[in-house]
Amino acid sequence: MDSMPGVDLVLLHAPSVYDFRKRPTMHGPISDVVPSTPVFEMYPLGFVSMVGYLEQNGYKARIVNLAVKMLKNPKFDVEQFIKRLDAKVFGFDLHWLPHAAGSLDLAEIVKKHHPDAPILLGGLSASYFHEEIIEYFPQIDYILRGDTTEKPLLDLMNHISAGKEPENVENLTWRTKDGRKRINPMTFVPTEMDDLWIDYGEVIKLVLRHRDLESTLPYESFMSYPFTAVLTCKGCAYNCITCGGSCYAFKNSFNRDGPAHKSAEKLVEEINV
Ligand code: SF4
Repeated sequence: MDSMPGVDLVLLHAPSVYDFRKRPTMHGPISDVVPSTPVFEMYPLGFVSMVGYLEQNGYKARIVNLAVKMLKNPKFDVEQFIKRLDAKVFGFDLHWLPHAAGSLDLAEIVKKHHPDAPILLGGLSASYFHEEIIEYFPQIDYILRGDTTEKPLLDLMNHISAGKEPENVENLTWRTKDGRKRINPMTFVPTEMDDLWIDYGEVIKLVLRHRDLESTLPYESFMSYPFTAVLTCKGCAYNCITCGGSCYAFKNSFNRDGPAHKSAEKLVEEINV
């Protein structure tokens, strides 16, 4: 099942450490509000909105939660599974910092088996460390920076499909064909959120298309303890000192001057779906 059908983009979610099943690991603390095990198998909800946005614009995209697959099946062969994946572009989230090791290690495995396919990274941690990542991790070709990247992602896919270098793709850090680092301006910071919404119908479509429920599960215990979130805004008005998503962090690292809210009507629509 895992080798078909081919897609334009597969978004992969790594465990915090690869391979946590073989390596003794001292896991850090995890918040009570996140229904994830310490390997942080929960993928960011942005995966759902990005897949939905691409599908609406004619691309085929897929989510594969490798961390859940590894948790549910101790014998699951990650490398063989990756080898059989059929995608033009691969993407990883590096939103929460605990995924730094897992995402970059698995990206290396993807590059080994799909050397011609570009690999992209996104999320707040990737945005903050974008220069270091593009400099020291050759397996990563693109980093989409900022808290909202659906439109830049679509632009990037259009450029890749047309075989063009992404000179004008907003929010993108990338490497030219001759290896030079390029940092495009972070100009895509929308204050209107209503056309970027989470359509859970897209997830059901993925399950049916790939006949694979496990890959799309947001966390290991979802079937016995299902819940999800309704995201009302991007950004935050507060400045909790330990938080990478604070007002200060958004202003100084992600170009956002203040929270951008979804309308009440759109939220009701999202909940009804
Ligand atoms: S700064 Fe905002 S997002 Fe971060 S912990 Fe505080 S309230 Fe939450």
